[in-house]
Order: sequence, then C-alpha cells, then structure tokens
Amino acid sequence: MEGSADERLEFGKMGYGCKHYRRRCQIRAPCCNEIYPCRHCHNEATSMLSNPFDRHELVRYDVKQVVCSVCDTEQPVARVCTNCGVSMGEYFCDICKFYDDDTTKEQFHCNDCGICRIGGRDKFFHCKKCGSCYSNGLRDNHLCVENSMRHHCPICYEFLFDSLKETTVMKCGHTMHCECYNEMMKRDKYCCPICSKSVIDMSKTLEIINKGNKATGMPADYRLKNVWILGNGKNNTFEVFYHIIGQKCSHCKSYNTRIVAPPVLPQ
Ligand SMILES: [Zn+2]
Ligand SMILES: [Zn+2]
Ligand SMILES: [Zn+2]
Ligand SMILES: [Zn+2]
Ligand SMILES: [Zn+2]
Ligand SMILES: [Zn+2]
Ligand SMILES: [Zn+2]
Ligand SMILES: [Zn+2]
Repeated sequence: MEGSADERLEFGKMGYGCKHYRRRCQIRAPCCNEIYPCRHCHNEATSMLSNPFDRHELVRYDVKQVVCSVCDTEQPVARVCTNCGVSMGEYFCDICKFYDDDTTKEQFHCNDCGICRIGGRDKFFHCKKCGSCYSNGLRDNHLCVENSMRHHCPICYEFLFDSLKETTVMKCGHTMHCECYNEMMKRDKYCCPICSKSVIDMSKTLEIINKGNKATGMPADYRLKNVWILGNGKNNTFEVFYHIIGQKCSHCKSYNTRIVAPPVLPQ
C-alpha cells in the first residue's frame, strides 16, 4: 500500500526513550555488553558502581548494536529497524550512532568537530582555527585563538569543546562558559582570566542572544533544563528554558530576573 511504509517509519515517534532523549531504540554498550537507553544512562549507571575500577564511560563511536524499542529486535546500528520497519530515530547520525526523535533541537553533525551539535546547521559555521562551531554572528567577527574551544574553562576547568553548558567567546577570542562568565561579571571582574584583556560588553552579548543565536554550537548531548524565574518587579513566576546569561522574562522581555524555587504544585 502506498504511504504505509512511511506511516510505519513514523510509528511510536516521541513515544519511547529516557530522560535524556526521545528515541525508539536502546544501545548495546560495546564496553560492558549491557543494554542501556542511551550513552548518558550508561555513564550515570557505571559511575555509581561500587568498585572504582568498574567505572567507565561509553565511547559513542564504538556502538555496533541497537535494540528496537518497538519490536525488541537487536540489530546493527541503522536508522530503520530491519524487523518492524520503524525509524528508530527521526534524527540519526551514523558516525555518532546517535538517535533522537525530537528534531526541534535541530541536530546536525559537524564533520570538523566530529560530533553532533544542536541549533541548526545554517546558524553555525565551523571555525577551523578555533576548532569548534561558532554562531554565524561571529563569522569574520571574532578574534581567532588556536584551538580556543579545545581548552578548559578558566573558571571551572571543565573541558569546553563538548561541554553541555553554553559557551561564550570574549572579545580577546578566549572562551569560557556563559555561566562562569556571568559569575565573573557579578563579581565585577571585567577582564579575561587568561589574557587580562577587557571582555565583550554586555549589550553586544545580549544582542546576540536576542537574535536567538548562541555563541557556540551546543553538543547534541545538551539537555534542556527548565527553571522557574521571578520576573522583574512582578510577583509571578514562569517556567522558562534555562538560559545561562540570564533568564528572559517572557512578559517584560528583560533579563533582569532571578531564579527562584519552583512553586509547589498540588499533587
Ligand atoms: Zn560500558
Ligand atoms: Zn538516557
Ligand atoms: Zn523494530
Ligand atoms: Zn554525529
Ligand atoms: Zn564544528
Ligand atoms: Zn575563530
Ligand atoms: Zn566554566
Ligand atoms: Zn583572553
């Protein structure tokens, strides 16, 4: 029947997955031969093992087998289940062995980065010198620093390249987490911790965010996190997607908000 194969592909879309991803398969971990919903589920479970020598992280590229969540058939990595014909992920990357049904994240694989990122391929370009995907707004508009993103954040020392947190590029070309940058601003430090040059002025940064552009391409590993904010001068709270530079109040459009505890909902 015409169209029925397509319908089959769509079957169960967004209906399966874990707290990290919506997807219609589980992966067999190549390292320990166990089945997990995703790489993060594996890493969370293995990091809790009592014997420290058993703790380990899964290498995404090494995944060979997946198990279809619709029909339970184990098979080699591919987008479509060989047994029941569903698409195991609306977005599928053969290199990262990555599946995600939620394509609103606009996943794309950057060959130069070697990983999947989110936010739309057309909104980012890969800066070869800095070694990462940067927002189009930064094209010909930033100071390149050799492998700028292949470094640790100067504030919290987390590796920036595949960090799950948003990253900002300072006027000097050095990079750090938006969160750490923000924290630095709050403490009235306006110079780069690496080279001591003064950092980009806030108005420019907000301009970039208001255009809906992130400074750097977030890994597809990124997990959207909701927080509650208290709007500027208002006594009501809203749930918004967490944005590191500041939480934009959806009513007054200002970033002059603060994070508050979520209201207690009646059970
Ligand atoms: Zn493992
Ligand atoms: Zn998971
Ligand atoms: Zn199947
Ligand atoms: Zn990929
Ligand atoms: Zn890239
Ligand atoms: Zn650059
Ligand atoms: Zn940091
Ligand atoms: Zn610097």
